[in-house]
Amino acid sequence: MTSLSELADAPPGMPSAGLLEIDLDAVRANYRLLRGRIGNAVCGGVVKADSYGLGASRVVPALAREGCRHFFVAHADEALALLPHLPDGGTLYVLNGLVGDAVPEIARLAAEGAPVVPVLNSLDHVIAWRAAAARRGRVLPAVLQIDTGMSRLGLAPAEVAAVADDGTAFAGLDIRFVMSHLACADEPLHPASAAQLAAFQAAREVLARHAAFAGARWCLANSSGIFLGAGYHFDLVRPGAALYGLNPQPGGDNPMRAVVRLHARIIQARSIPAGSHVGYGYTFASAGAARVATLSVGYADGWPRSLSGKGAVWLGDQRLPILGRVSMDSIVVDVSHVSEGRAVADAPIELIGGHQSVDDVADAAGTIGYEILTSLGRRYRRVYTGG
Ligand SMILES: *Cc1c(COP(=O)(O)O)cnc(C)c1O
Repeated sequence: MTSLSELADAPPGMPSAGLLEIDLDAVRANYRLLRGRIGNAVCGGVVKADSYGLGASRVVPALAREGCRHFFVAHADEALALLPHLPDGGTLYVLNGLVGDAVPEIARLAAEGAPVVPVLNSLDHVIAWRAAAARRGRVLPAVLQIDTGMSRLGLAPAEVAAVADDGTAFAGLDIRFVMSHLACADEPLHPASAAQLAAFQAAREVLARHAAFAGARWCLANSSGIFLGAGYHFDLVRPGAALYGLNPQPGGDNPMRAVVRLHARIIQARSIPAGSHVGYGYTFASAGAARVATLSVGYADGWPRSLSGKGAVWLGDQRLPILGRVSMDSIVVDVSHVSEGRAVADAPIELIGGHQSVDDVADAAGTIGYEILTSLGRRYRRVYTGG
């Protein structure tokens, strides 16, 4: 890990709001932990949204070193950008499938033999991809998604039954996997998961009538789904969040290793008399004399504005409550109880680290760790370790 003193010692004018440390060894350890839980199933990695904001061009090679070969993105252009970073034998799956420009783009890539595979989310996608295969006179790979309850993407049960009895529905297509997605896997007691599992198994029996699925494999679980038990693992699992250290079992102990640390620095400290106000809207008024410090991180850096007057940051072991509104480029925190001489300009402040996790920040902000991670701004200096 890069030492905090590096941040503290950085020359004035360092152009970043703070230091964002991303531990690629922790990503690898998390992959190993998940793989250890899934028996003979294969562990893929979800690297959409630039690996949840952490840098997919760094995460993909790190996962590849652990043997990961199945990578999931949301959009065709995300797949394009990652092709140069893909290991031999690796495949990129495009979860949102054949949308807009993606049809000709993915068809061209696939026809050229690039390892980019669209997820077909509707009958229209199936038809478009079949037509692309016919036009190019070659077999094109695909993943078929079926909807098992969340009404987001995938064929409805009636459509599954219809294609199962249509011998030509998948002409020219090589169906690598059939997938669905769990809506409530992070709530182990929620009855939806078992119902979705039953619907997935029912669709599997229906599709078994069709020759195109003779060699297909099956894929259901995201991070939390892995922790629902072996019945949810099938042939391939698709974790994202847990790889990046988020807790796949909210409310329970987090078995994953933390991946991210974020530090900013104090850019100004000052004493204020009783009755002073802090920040936009004067939403905080100090009852007594206080000492406050201004930090170089705001909502433009992904520090949520919903933390206005809520949550805290840390100086060593001391908790510094956030006062008033979060600004675009700064926040003000209470340092009244910090011993003299510590809360001074340039002192490094922990926003995410040993004292509060990404999930803790999300809880305080009334959101989920996914949103905090994917919002981490572009103004931080990013330092990768391990990998
Ligand atoms: C984002 C996503 C995942 C990964 O989910 P996590 O909860 O981050 O593990 C898996 N499958 C699909 C279809 C997704 O959209």
